[in-house]
Amino acid sequence: MFQKILIANRGEIAVRIIRACKQLGIETVAIYSEADKNSLHTQIADEAVCVGGNKSSESYLNMENIISAAISKGAEAVHPGFGFLSENARFAELCESCGIRFIGPKGEVIDKMGNKARAREIMIASGVPVVPGSDGKVDSLQQAKSLAVGIGYPVLIKASAGGGGRGMRVAYTESEFDQAYETARSEAKNAFGDDTMYLEKYVLNPKHIEFQIIADKYGNTVHLGERDCSIQRRNQKVIEEAPSLISDDLRKRMGDAAIKASKTVNYENAGTIEFLVNGNDFYFIEMNTRIQVEHPVTEMVTGIDIIKEQIKITGGEPLSFSQEDINLNGHSIEVRINAENPKENFRPAPGKIDLLHVPSGHGVRFDSFIYTGYSISPFYDSMMGKVIVHGKTRLEAINKMKATLDELVISGVSNNREFCLKILENNDYVKGNFDTGFIPKYLDSLIGYPNE
Ligand code: ADP
Ligand code: ADP
Ligand code: MG
Repeated sequence: MFQKILIANRGEIAVRIIRACKQLGIETVAIYSEADKNSLHTQIADEAVCVGGNKSSESYLNMENIISAAISKGAEAVHPGFGFLSENARFAELCESCGIRFIGPKGEVIDKMGNKARAREIMIASGVPVVPGSDGKVDSLQQAKSLAVGIGYPVLIKASAGGGGRGMRVAYTESEFDQAYETARSEAKNAFGDDTMYLEKYVLNPKHIEFQIIADKYGNTVHLGERDCSIQRRNQKVIEEAPSLISDDLRKRMGDAAIKASKTVNYENAGTIEFLVNGNDFYFIEMNTRIQVEHPVTEMVTGIDIIKEQIKITGGEPLSFSQEDINLNGHSIEVRINAENPKENFRPAPGKIDLLHVPSGHGVRFDSFIYTGYSISPFYDSMMGKVIVHGKTRLEAINKMKATLDELVISGVSNNREFCLKILENNDYVKGNFDTGFIPKYLDSLIGYPNE
């Protein structure tokens, strides 16, 4: 096992990884930007190295500085978390070529699956169902537009490098196509430095259901069940749960497809296969070759610590369980708490936290990095943390989450606590009648008055 690991991330996921390392008896090296000098991950790690300025490009994306920090501190492995360099094949390869293990899949696998248009082609070739659309990438507006006629409107124009819900636009009719294409393309160019585009049929109000995969170096691939992440705003997840409400038959078919998708690329470490579900049909949309924000709901129902498993896999250990050992117990829900103002079109709301009060109890978990007196920086993502609950049944989990959010106090910084409470109180949510159209459908009642 490793003696020392560098965590190439910030925020709650850096804290989560540092805690897992401590529990495994592994020393930790944090990296931080100037703005994160007082951040929790910087304080709780055994050592911390400033790797650059406030902009991510100067610090958390600064490969040279991060690798130098790992070498000078004698870290044997790097955990990339999510976002930042977690799906950067070059970074994974650079680490390995410097003798540092990258906690994740091999660079060539990230390359294959991180490129969404290419992943689509690989899935088509291996017989995993995908949303109808272009075979791979499209090369020009003209070509895309003529393909769209064959696919049939509405069509979703997506960036191959996209992530976090960015770089995609719907065209409901041919007359909307040119503008949607150009908007998606320029957003992708700005956000990801890559404007490769592809097309998918826009599925109306599907469910987003994803499978957690875990695979060792010896070809053992297991799935840890699925998560429903349909409660989304602008294609970004807000509330997730495990298990989903699909039938056992569909769960089996999707689980088999997820395993097949991973094995096709000889996937190693933790990863997620995302699907859209429409009735009894399911379609692959992408693979995330990293840990995900919502991994805790899977941990709560399986009892497996996915971060520890990631570290052990990279350290060369075989999986200690097989598919038959995985049982899903009870129900878990996660709510992402963001520093934002839902009443002002969810504008990010950085600022100082005057008081933090987090209720705790049986089956209540708070994965976060905030504390009283901490100032949320405007430079990074607005997610302050995640409340996760576990109950024997879905209804018990919903009630536990409502009780927890009801008592939660984060004063000084606008946040989406009440917005999420409103979702949990919605009858259709409680009954399980929801899909990715849920938030848009109920937006007015969720934010308390008509949105702008
Ligand atoms: P999930 O882990 O559920 O897929 P998100 O899609 O929201 O969650 O992504 C996790 C984090 O990583 C978010 O902070 C998001 O902004 C960021 N992220 C995801 N994909 C990319 C990407 N391709 N480039 C930069 N940041 C990304
Ligand atoms: P990202 O890399 O940003 O996470 P995804 O391809 O995973 O992008 O899509 C994010 C979300 O966008 C999905 O969960 C879903 O709500 C919506 N979406 C993506 N593709 C489609 C599609 N073809 N039809 C309808 N909705 C889609
Ligand atoms: Mg996705």
